[in-house]
Amino acid sequence: METIGVSSTSRTQFIDVTAQVRGAVRKSGVRSGVCMLFVPHTTAAITINENADPDVTSDILMELDRVIPLVDGYAHVEGNSAAHVKSSVVGCQMNVFVEKGELVLGTWQGIYFCEFDGPRSRKLLVKVMSGGGADS
Ligand code: ZN
Repeated sequence: METIGVSSTSRTQFIDVTAQVRGAVRKSGVRSGVCMLFVPHTTAAITINENADPDVTSDILMELDRVIPLVDGYAHVEGNSAAHVKSSVVGCQMNVFVEKGELVLGTWQGIYFCEFDGPRSRKLLVKVMSGGGADS
């Protein structure tokens, strides 16, 4: 398993980690299989979305803030319930296929670490599993 360090600089932020995940896949030497990604935090998440226009990720953050406001009569005394809710809604894990030693992503897709309670130092765990292909 590989650990990718992620440093956020804002309270909420989408950080493109595609290059770091590609690096972990190459380092694994797996030609065909699955890249498993896991965020070991309760106020962060991971998602795939458009990497061409940065307005897309800022629109997603804006809408998450609208639907899940920072202050909304939450019971959790730590004061970061909105971040916990966003983490569960977006999700803390995903799998991406690996073929020919590379992540299988659409042309406009990037992998984003989603910070909802920053700025903080975070971790993204990566495990690349071999299998399912003739050259795995
Ligand atoms: Zn909390």
